[in-house]
Amino acid sequence: MKVVVIGAGIIGLLTAYKLAKLGHQVVILEKHSQSQESSWAGGGIVSPMYPWRYAPAVSALATLAQAEYPILAQELLALTNINIELNQCGMLMLDTEDKRDAIVWAQHYQQQLDCLDKNAIKQLAPLLGEFNNAVLLPQVANVRNPRLLQALVNAVNLLGVQHITQAEVCQWHHQQGQLFAVTTTTGQRYEAECFVVATGAWSGQLLKTLQVDIPIKPMKGQMLLYKLAQQRLSHIVLHQGHYLIPRQDGHILCGSTLEDTGFDKHTTSQALEILAQSAQGIMPLLAQHQPIKQWAGLRPASPNGIPFIGKLPHFENVWLNAGQFRNGLVLAPASAQLLVDLMQGNKTQVDESPYQII
Ligand SMILES: Cc1cc2nc3c(=O)[nH]c(=O)nc-3n(C[C@H](O)[C@H](O)[C@H](O)COP(=O)(O)OP(=O)(O)OC[C@H]3O[C@@H](n4cnc5c(N)ncnc54)[C@H](O)[C@@H]3O)c2cc1C
Repeated sequence: MKVVVIGAGIIGLLTAYKLAKLGHQVVILEKHSQSQESSWAGGGIVSPMYPWRYAPAVSALATLAQAEYPILAQELLALTNINIELNQCGMLMLDTEDKRDAIVWAQHYQQQLDCLDKNAIKQLAPLLGEFNNAVLLPQVANVRNPRLLQALVNAVNLLGVQHITQAEVCQWHHQQGQLFAVTTTTGQRYEAECFVVATGAWSGQLLKTLQVDIPIKPMKGQMLLYKLAQQRLSHIVLHQGHYLIPRQDGHILCGSTLEDTGFDKHTTSQALEILAQSAQGIMPLLAQHQPIKQWAGLRPASPNGIPFIGKLPHFENVWLNAGQFRNGLVLAPASAQLLVDLMQGNKTQVDESPYQII
């Protein structure tokens, strides 16, 4: 089957990767010269933050994807020689008030969870500030998402996918519920039997031009980057909605803001101040360091963070995989698998109904 995938973020690339592995002929159309939107900007935590606060539809995909990540990391290393640095460092959530909900959630999803008091936190992570209690999920990993994207771009190229950049889809050609081609702003026309829309935060806006209303909108997130001579932070650490993520080479990411400011991607001095304060509160040592970089990305926000995965209404051959909101990196492997299974008419690993587009 010939498939055009629109958008080369983590969702589009992984969907293309899985389709190509099954022998489909895939073309990816990406509006920029590189994949540098939300999937590049994200922190790479391979778990929702405070996962028990999410709908079961999010937990179901997260659980499947977490099991798939180590296999994906191995596959990509073998295929491309790129190490995506999947680091199972654990996630420590400080001064969490809904500990009981966390325990119930962990039992239900068979996740290891430890509750720590002040002394246990000090022993485990002596460089953190003073905190009274914490919930630890020791199995949670983080991934170096820019490397994951590069590995996927190389992998799809090796699998024969046509990865076309600077190709912004702006026009649809359809008749009687059948889409037969799209045109890009450069005037190129691409025909296929099937189309997958994986345009992240732009999906709502783009699909309006096809007279389809999908409640996906951009939600800005800003991040800071620190660099230490060597890594001094052992875990992903969350406190009051902000977090620190350790990379193996001494980088520490601090995130993130949640701003409803449309498609504006500017960074602000206000966010710099808020995030730096949080970073220093969690790990006082960071007061001695200046952030070396600040950036922003646009999350594809959907109601309750539940992505839209399935066929578009009124179209026989147009599929959507978007709206993963704050969890696109963790949910990507399972979201892509669900869409590919639906496209092939296979039995799905999860109940597809919560993600359906009505
Ligand atoms: C600050 C921040 C921190 C985050 N941290 C995490 C985290 O720790 N863990 C986690 O799981 N998730 C995290 N996320 C969320 C995650 O990054 C997103 O959910 C995910 O990247 C969405 O992937 P996507 O492929 O749908 O979108 P994107 O990565 O935005 O990709 C969409 C692509 O479509 C392209 N496109 C758009 N319109 C068109 C068009 N008309 N034609 C062709 N191409 C088009 C865009 O250029 C883009 O490359 C974070 C996000 C942000 C912003």
